[in-house]
Amino acid sequence: MNIAITAHDAKKELMVQFCIAYCGILSRYSLCGTGTTSKMVSEATGLEIQRFLSGSQGGDQQIAARIACNEIDLLLFFRDPLNPKSHEAANDMNLLRLCDMHNIPVATNIATAEVLIHGLERGDLDWRNILRD
Ligand code: PGA
Repeated sequence: MNIAITAHDAKKELMVQFCIAYCGILSRYSLCGTGTTSKMVSEATGLEIQRFLSGSQGGDQQIAARIACNEIDLLLFFRDPLNPKSHEAANDMNLLRLCDMHNIPVATNIATAEVLIHGLERGDLDWRNILRD
């Protein structure tokens, strides 16, 4: 299973904390993410993460391309609802649209991420393996 991570600037530290807390579970999966978020998380946790470009340089579109090919099974996308940068809005909507297209579980905040990560551990997302085979 492939998990993608990305976070707006104001939520990056929260993503780091989340990944520290669930490092044990995350380490069992293949991880990828946007440049800065991945760097911060891998430095804090030691997790191996395939690092795409920084979001501003198209890293979120690299995630989107993999989602479009149904290669991502879970997206953790911590959004900042208070200070969305204008260039981010369209890309954000595109990411979410592609998740809806392929029924990819996506968490846009830590509360949902907690539920999904526990579900992942419990096997609730194993249907994604069957679907892709
Ligand atoms: P970053 O990309 O992890 O490279 O910062 C995400 C974003 O642009 O918000």
